[in-house]
Amino acid sequence: MRKPLVAGNWKMNGSSESNQSLINGILEGINQVSDVDVLVCPPYVYISQVAQLLEGSTVALGGQDVAKEESGAHTGKISVSMLTDVGCKYVIIGHSERRPYYHDRAEVVAEKFIAAQKGGMIPILCVGELLEEREAGQTEAVVKEQLQGVVAHTGIKALENAVIAYEPVWAIGTGKTATPQQAQDVHAFIRNLIRKEDNDVAENLRILYGGSVKAANAKELFSQSDIDGGLIGGASLAADEFIAICQAAG
Ligand code: PEP
Repeated sequence: MRKPLVAGNWKMNGSSESNQSLINGILEGINQVSDVDVLVCPPYVYISQVAQLLEGSTVALGGQDVAKEESGAHTGKISVSMLTDVGCKYVIIGHSERRPYYHDRAEVVAEKFIAAQKGGMIPILCVGELLEEREAGQTEAVVKEQLQGVVAHTGIKALENAVIAYEPVWAIGTGKTATPQQAQDVHAFIRNLIRKEDNDVAENLRILYGGSVKAANAKELFSQSDIDGGLIGGASLAADEFIAICQAAG
């Protein structure tokens, strides 16, 4: 039985003041959420503040990205050990806003994934197709290539300690959600791909859906058999909305 995970990706949003009221709101609602792992991924500079606010709660902390290097002369970068030092358990890897705009090519994504696991973190590996790729019938091929880009380097067992997020790029921040059936089809495709190599890994792997999830559509998406929660962008910035999404996953 897979325990659902709902992860809030705050992206480049927040301030000391707004973080405080967002976390207060999440903490007020969190006891109405059961049997769901809940995670927030604030911008780096606010992780320590959020860690303090979350102290003693069940809400986990994650990074939005991480350096593949361990330490040293890498101006502007944040390492795995820094993230764990400030209390992060998870880290998002290969988000579609990073792959094209910040040169997170397949090799870099694999290196970050490996670095995260080596440092004891749980990577959340994002995969997903562009609109033109979906329209050209290439969704499965694209997702397969993105997955293989990591698994070819790590072996399938690495997915025992990882999460996959299927995020169709055309649905991220656009208000256009994949239909529950469209999402389920890709999730089942991913799980079946993995099942060919290792049935137990496939059965235990959490595959999240991301792309304009909100309270109004979460229940239907999360009720699909291969959808194990969500990676939530915009809707994770409002406590009531985020809590309602977490409840929908429970
Ligand atoms: C995301 O950034 O991972 C995401 C899914 O964003 P949104 O929910 O805003 O579409």
